[in-house]
Amino acid sequence: MTEKEKAKKGIISEGMKKVAEEEKIEVEKLAEYISEGKVVILKHRNKYLGIGKGLRTKVNTNIGTSPDMADINLELEKLEKACEYKTDTVMDLSTGGKLDEIRRKIIENSPVPVGTVPIYQAAIETIEEKGTIVKMEPDKIFEVIERHAKDGVSFITVHCGVNLKTLERLRKNPRKTMVVSRGGAFLISWMISNEKENPLYENFDRLIEIAKKYDIILSLGDGMRPGSILDSTDRPQIEELITLGELTDIAWREDVQVMIEGPGHIPINEIPANVILEKKICKDAPFYVLGPVVTDIAPGYDHITSAIGAAVAGMYGADFICYVTPSEHLGLPGVEEVIEGVVAARIAAHTADIAKKIPSAIEWDMEMDIARKERKWEKQKKLSIDPEKFEKLYRKYTPSERDVCTMCGKYCALKIVEKSLKTKIIF
Ligand code: SF4
Repeated sequence: MTEKEKAKKGIISEGMKKVAEEEKIEVEKLAEYISEGKVVILKHRNKYLGIGKGLRTKVNTNIGTSPDMADINLELEKLEKACEYKTDTVMDLSTGGKLDEIRRKIIENSPVPVGTVPIYQAAIETIEEKGTIVKMEPDKIFEVIERHAKDGVSFITVHCGVNLKTLERLRKNPRKTMVVSRGGAFLISWMISNEKENPLYENFDRLIEIAKKYDIILSLGDGMRPGSILDSTDRPQIEELITLGELTDIAWREDVQVMIEGPGHIPINEIPANVILEKKICKDAPFYVLGPVVTDIAPGYDHITSAIGAAVAGMYGADFICYVTPSEHLGLPGVEEVIEGVVAARIAAHTADIAKKIPSAIEWDMEMDIARKERKWEKQKKLSIDPEKFEKLYRKYTPSERDVCTMCGKYCALKIVEKSLKTKIIF
């Protein structure tokens, strides 16, 4: 039985209890949200993670090999660092090397839920076996999906909304960067060559069957996400979103848990509309945003351009943020870029949580404010989102213990006011 089915039947599961405790929300309220599809529960071994309404905004880290860089040990190192820097989930997006082995290793070593994009493997194996993606059999796609589910994957991205109607919409409305989703591109090229409907759309019932059997979350992918801010909120994107809303209804009728993936590249002023549209069209299904990147001119700094977008999206109700690293648009990220990406996304998520009035988020800031006022440096370090960076910068300028830092030194504003309030003497 899926968590959604249990919630609808009034059963309070182990997962619901754990998530409610962790998020400090009444378990009955949580169950209500799950039954309505507003919250999903991801399971990873005996751990549970809730994503959606009323809960802390979560962060995902993409790792995985590419055909040019297929080093499993490097990916495991990225996994370890992403978890050390407190990512909530990871996605294995591997496209190079032994894909089954890499995925299984990542699942085995990950303390957090793992997501995948099975269409990558279905396409790659078909190209290796038959020389072309055109010959990919629909059965192959569903076989790979079930392989991932059996391995213990918690959520899968499935680009079900890239159908012939969306493709037609794209043809009539060409874009600056057309399609930038890898999964979307694989499926579109298959559909064009075979002149057939997307198997993930046409056989959505098969997908539902697998998702229900394993209670994996369907993360309905946005193959038409804009890859340029000038393509944002256009007709192909909205056409796909409408389809995803209709598929959400179908999945919910079978009690399958669903998230909706979102853009992409969006100017900051269009982000609120994008969140509202998703929430309306997909009836409050959790929104998983990929960025959004708010300008295209900052390669090397896209962890920042995306954190700006993610903070705004989160403030307006996005529930799950996919990190972006400084390597975005430039290459496969290394360990350092993964750390920078996780930290930036966590700052964005936390910023959104303050706006969402999540009590634990506000308490965290309050504790930091007190430690800062009292100039308790060790406490500040412990509370900071990146204690290693805190130590590096603080010690760089303040090698020995002092109760002020080198910014103002003896003119420390905090100290001056503290002293004058106590003694009326300033200096
Ligand atoms: S020296 Fe300046 S920056 Fe440093 S703690 Fe005091 S007020 Fe803050």
